[in-house]
Amino acid sequence: MTLQIPFDNSYARLPERFYHRQSANPVRAPGLIAINPTLARDLGLDPDSLKAPDGLDVLAGNAVPEGADPLAQAYAGHQFGGWSPQLGDGRALLLGEVVDRHGLRRDIQLKGSGRTPFSRMGDGRAWVGPVIREYLVSEAMHAMGIPTTRALAAVTTGEPVIREAVFPGAVLTRVASSHIRVGTFQFFAARGDEEAVRLLADHVIARHYPDAGDALGLLRAVIERQARLIAAWMSVGFIHGVMNTDNAQLAGETIDYGPCAFMDTYEGNKVFSSIDQFGRYAYSNQPNIAVWNMAQFATCLLPLIDEDADTAVAKATDAVHGFPALYSAAWLDRFRAKLGLTSDDPEDEALVDDLLDAMEQGRADFTNAFAGLADGTAQDWFTDRAAWNAWAPRYAARLERQGGADNATMAQANPLVIPRNHLVEAAIKAAADGDYAPFRTLLAAVTRPFEMPEDPALRLPPEPDEVVHRTFCGT
Ligand code: AMP
Ligand code: MG
Repeated sequence: MTLQIPFDNSYARLPERFYHRQSANPVRAPGLIAINPTLARDLGLDPDSLKAPDGLDVLAGNAVPEGADPLAQAYAGHQFGGWSPQLGDGRALLLGEVVDRHGLRRDIQLKGSGRTPFSRMGDGRAWVGPVIREYLVSEAMHAMGIPTTRALAAVTTGEPVIREAVFPGAVLTRVASSHIRVGTFQFFAARGDEEAVRLLADHVIARHYPDAGDALGLLRAVIERQARLIAAWMSVGFIHGVMNTDNAQLAGETIDYGPCAFMDTYEGNKVFSSIDQFGRYAYSNQPNIAVWNMAQFATCLLPLIDEDADTAVAKATDAVHGFPALYSAAWLDRFRAKLGLTSDDPEDEALVDDLLDAMEQGRADFTNAFAGLADGTAQDWFTDRAAWNAWAPRYAARLERQGGADNATMAQANPLVIPRNHLVEAAIKAAADGDYAPFRTLLAAVTRPFEMPEDPALRLPPEPDEVVHRTFCGT
């Protein structure tokens, strides 16, 4: 059966200055790494035809499927706070959009598909390492109920990619509600192209926020989703690593899994990324950076918010200042659930904060200590139990006031399996040598995060010699 994709490409109907229309650069020998059958069916695609030679040709960029209108999107962005007026899809192409079985419009994008006018010095390619990292982590996030771009497929190209060494090339097929970022707005705002900002705002409202009404409503809605997203990250110990404005997606999905990582041992100021010298994107700084990113977004919208500049600034500032309260509420909801608390108590925020402090002092494994709250094994994941012993009676008293923990809520809030860095690294290492078995095993476990994995070792923190201290952008 040949691959049929029911495209309807709304972004391609925007003016030509929004993108560069082009096809992917063909590769030598497409080979299958993985297809996501559930997601494929959701999109109305037949998983078997994706796996067939025609399908692989599409996924590798060797064939343009009927109805596709491939293009590289233009965007700008602040990277580590420094302004880049032109970034854009330098190694990705939007094939087109489909409306899925739930009526949601979704982008299908090839990542690693070769050079575009936005590639600058890059080769436009990806190697299997970052491709399977994104596949594993994005699918794990989705399984944990955290908004994210998805992985539809990964294929090898049969071509080498040169990085620190020579690695097998690969292409990821990424699915997202859209790939519109704060940086997409910045691209036009910085050029004084108010008409484009307006068209883009209308597009985003129609596509993601039909109830927003106007630009100020859009700003408020984006801020609210961003607050919820960061709270969700915090609740699973996730560190994005590159929260640049070009990696802040407008629909509130996690995007661009570069040097991201989940913490093993809890540390409030944890940083993994090798390029984050000053801890700008440290775990505890993520909400602050989200505010900063939202302020950049607000700046782009000013001319749309009010004709009078001062009034526009006042309204936008008020919206951005709303972030902390939205975030705190979302954060408390997430952590209350992790503690099995379904009632409100004014002491809860301090209770959670103090647990995190205790974890830091006691060098506890974040994921397993939380999971252990449900069955009384939390203390087993503390290296030093003194701080735990001081905190535990307060928790017991709080649970007693509520009449016991809500176990069902806890079971859905505390994952047993996450894509731990050392396991992801091991899967990448094997894949670089052509062995995808560790990737498959890990994928199966992290996509059922609330179940005990078949191999209980997948739950364990790394041994001292397995600890990953640094992660790399790995483009
Ligand atoms: P990222 O770090 O993934 O957010 O990407 C930042 C910018 O660098 C984007 O404009 C990418 O398209 C571009 N880029 C990253 N890797 C490559 C590559 N291998 N070739 C061309 N452009 C790239
Ligand atoms: Mg990016």
